[in-house]
Amino acid sequence: MPPLPARVFGQLCQRFRLLSGQHPLMFPLMALYLCSMVTASLILVAWLSYQVQQDGERALGRLGQFIAYTNQTLAQVTQQQPDCSPDTVTGLRRQVFLMERIKEIGLFDQNFAIYCVSNQGEVEFRLFKHTRQRLIDSLSGTTLSLTKSKISQAQSLFIYYRNEAGMGADALLRPQTFIDLVNQELRFRDLSLDIQVIGRSLNPDKVAEPVAVVDSFLFKLPGYPLTLRLCITDELLVQYLLKHAWLGLLLGSMLGLAYFAARLRRLSRNSLPNALQRAIKKKELEVYYQPIVNQNTGEVVGLEALLRWQHPEEGFISPGVFIPLAEQLDLIVPLTDFVLDDVCHWLSHQPELFSGRYISINISRVHLLQQDLASQIKQRCKVTPHLPSHLLLEITEDNVFSEHELKQVLYQFKALKALGIRLAVDDFGTGYSGLDFIRRYPFDVLKIDQVFIKSLGGESAAKPLLEAIINLAQELNMQVIAEGIEYSFQARSLQILGVELLQGFMYAHPMPKHRVTPLLLQEAPFAAEGVSNRLLPSLLLTQSGNG
Ligand code: C2E
Ligand code: CA
Ligand code: CA
Repeated sequence: MPPLPARVFGQLCQRFRLLSGQHPLMFPLMALYLCSMVTASLILVAWLSYQVQQDGERALGRLGQFIAYTNQTLAQVTQQQPDCSPDTVTGLRRQVFLMERIKEIGLFDQNFAIYCVSNQGEVEFRLFKHTRQRLIDSLSGTTLSLTKSKISQAQSLFIYYRNEAGMGADALLRPQTFIDLVNQELRFRDLSLDIQVIGRSLNPDKVAEPVAVVDSFLFKLPGYPLTLRLCITDELLVQYLLKHAWLGLLLGSMLGLAYFAARLRRLSRNSLPNALQRAIKKKELEVYYQPIVNQNTGEVVGLEALLRWQHPEEGFISPGVFIPLAEQLDLIVPLTDFVLDDVCHWLSHQPELFSGRYISINISRVHLLQQDLASQIKQRCKVTPHLPSHLLLEITEDNVFSEHELKQVLYQFKALKALGIRLAVDDFGTGYSGLDFIRRYPFDVLKIDQVFIKSLGGESAAKPLLEAIINLAQELNMQVIAEGIEYSFQARSLQILGVELLQGFMYAHPMPKHRVTPLLLQEAPFAAEGVSNRLLPSLLLTQSGNG
């Protein structure tokens, strides 16, 4: 026995094949939707990244503009007298008042010593060493710093400007100012934002919060020790994908429609008449055979040929569906030919399997009216001379013939009889003609329809009818075959009623040739040595299915 994973995998594959056979559209549509969702997600991720990149560049530009504008004001301020007179302080305060976001302006001399501040007036302290160095190194004489204000002790952001003469000014602003400026340019509120000046974060508390980052983008302001980092968090990505999920659905629906249209085009190109004709040529059709068993001896006395169509796209199509369609589409003659070919081929190549056995073929009413079946079979006898003695033709009783048609059909029956071919009335008891049909022609075999067999075992009104049919057949010297035997009690009831020949799933399902052959090689494969022996082949063969 194969190992468990292999068995599970095998079963999954079988399920998949079964499902795709039953619902041929389901898997292609699911795959299309899945691919569309994946493609749409990839496009959306790329588009989100592009938008974030654009936002970041715009935000950086905004900061650059703000700093440049502040530097212009600072440049003006450095042109004042290098003192801290009341006029100078008033001038500084006026500038602070005029500049919306600036909280304080200070002045420093060639030694980088701050000597006058708008809020405080006269002061005396030096710029930090690193700030001094950055100002000296800067080509434009400007820099930024993030540090505690000497006066307010609050973490503050400084913009410094130093003119060619070495005199300079600085502007103090809240760190939040830069964050607000950047936020104004961002389209996505859930982006994680980190602005750093001289390597220190403007919002260290927020940055410390752990966030799952999907992608991050770093921007540097040229000429300044400022970086801006924007991160796409998984929360933002999920929200963005959910918000735009319609894109995937739209794409999936469009592809689905295109697939549908293509399929319809293909199907109409391969319309049923063409498809059936192609099926005959390409051997998509197969003839299955179901044994007819003598329940007293367990021997297989004959086989019924039943067509199967495994459509490459539609999956299994029941003969109950395609036979009536073939009748409407005038394709029944090639179909019967196909079955006859198969039967003749088998009879010619393995005649030893059929000594004392027959094969029955279903003949449609349309065929009987359209074609000279007797002549057709006569032609075949040239190659398969023993064909008539092994052939039983089943004609369904529910066929409604007009008087003229009946004459034509009876003529055919006689011609067939003359060839030595036996005829069976199929599904007896289901149609209107019933008695009249068997009165007009002495059929050799009467096949009792499954509905009567189903009535066995309970108190059904059909049961007396079944008994009447069996009596009638015996009186008319017709052999009786009961179809649709699924349970041994049905077989026993029929045995009591004197019916020997049975056909049904209890013995065997219709099967391909290679699976019936072993049964034909045995003398009595269904010998009644007990129920277990009888059920064994049926259980084994259940796997082959009815289709
Ligand atoms: P039918 O001639 O009455 O064939 C017997 C049907 O009963 C078959 O169905 C067979 O699979 C099914 N059957 C056999 N034993 C049992 C059982 O124990 N229980 C149940 N529930 N069913 C059982 P299938 O093969 O689906 O064929 C359906 C019908 O299609 C046939 O009914 C026949 O009228 C027609 N058909 C099949 N092949 C051909 C063909 O080559 N030519 C023509 N003209 N008709 C065909
Ligand atoms: Ca039949
Ligand atoms: Ca039947």
